Amino acid sequence: MAVAEKKPEALNKFVPYEPAPGEEYMNDKQLEHFRQILLTWKQDLMEEVDRTVRHLQEEANNFADPADRATQEEGFNLELRTRDRERKLLKKINETIEKIDEDDYGFCEACGVEIGIRRLEARPTATLCVDCKTLAELKEKQLGG
Ligand SMILES: [Zn+2]
Repeated sequence: MAVAEKKPEALNKFVPYEPAPGEEYMNDKQLEHFRQILLTWKQDLMEEVDRTVRHLQEEANNFADPADRATQEEGFNLELRTRDRERKLLKKINETIEKIDEDDYGFCEACGVEIGIRRLEARPTATLCVDCKTLAELKEKQLGG
């Protein structure tokens, strides 16, 4: 059972944004671009959550059979973790859409620089620029996190 983090399908569905020369960063057109990406991603994710929930219900029904209970419990736990991750991600996506609505999207929360279109297309929920992200990860490691 592979649990490897794969790139969400929704992040392969759009045409990368090509800003015109001198175009203002995070103008309405760019904000709309990212809103569409996030909405598509959210839609996909909600369908995934539906599938996970259905799967959980099916597995719960099969729990009556003790023969492969251990295997099932393992699968069950895995799905619960998946569900938890999906829920957190959905929350994050919703928060990000709110930021777009408030015209507060695309800038690093720590130092205020532009996060950048390409980085945001790869990771639309990013709130830190590459430098601050790297720094945050280093700190986390030092704290033994
Ligand atoms: Zn920064």
